[in-house]
Amino acid sequence: MGKVYLTGAGPGDIELMTVKALRVVREADVIIYDRLVNPDILAEAKDGCEFVYVGKEDSHHTLPQEEINEVIYQSALKYENIVRLKGGDPFVFGRGGEEGIYLYERDIKFEFIPGITSAIAVPEYAGIPVTHRGITVSFRVVTGHESSGKDHSQIPWDNYKSDDTIIFLMGLHRLKMICKKLIGIGKPKDYPVAVISRGTRPDEKTVVGTLEDIYEKAKDLPTPALIVVGKVVNLRKQLSWFEKS
Ligand code: SAH
Repeated sequence: MGKVYLTGAGPGDIELMTVKALRVVREADVIIYDRLVNPDILAEAKDGCEFVYVGKEDSHHTLPQEEINEVIYQSALKYENIVRLKGGDPFVFGRGGEEGIYLYERDIKFEFIPGITSAIAVPEYAGIPVTHRGITVSFRVVTGHESSGKDHSQIPWDNYKSDDTIIFLMGLHRLKMICKKLIGIGKPKDYPVAVISRGTRPDEKTVVGTLEDIYEKAKDLPTPALIVVGKVVNLRKQLSWFEKS
């Protein structure tokens, strides 16, 4: 029986992968990877390494999670070094915990390798710090894609009245609703919002607006994309660097 490395691949730029993740990729007998993983990473694998794509779209899963768990488990019965490569960090809306529990219940050895999460790195590439002294003392990372029915939001909107930075992942298709909710709890209509598409990749694009107009400005951006709500967005004027480099 093999060992499974539940590994974060980082947000896109291949150089934002950890040294440890790169080592296990190079040693892998099989790599099971997602849509958000930069495919260039696979070129680092040794000859004969098997690749299994279990890509997921934002809103629909091409393979249900239960099947992905089973693919990982079956690979562990067959190979020695199994790498489960996931975009960003495995525990930030990555379902890494579910995969770990599935293996635990079947007595398969596993290790987690943290990755640089898009939630922090993508705003950073756009020149937006998630915290900044004198502006905000905390940040929240929230899913914009809720699993329950549309009428029953699991998001505690009333908690979001403060000036915490809010980063929404998987939220582009619900951008209009998110802005409406935030205006509804009392945030000013001109409150700053940024949408960052394909962050840390050569075609990264950032659109800045307000709760009132960001939807019209950003609705057609390609995915993956995330939403940053907060006064830190204004720092982009001084801190933007990636687009200029
Ligand atoms: N585990 C991942 C997040 C998985 S949820 C992580 O830690 O980064 C998938 C969501 O992450 C996408 O819908 C999008 O909102 C965001 N995302 C991932 N990579 C991104 C990128 N390069 N640019 C913008 N958003 C990204």
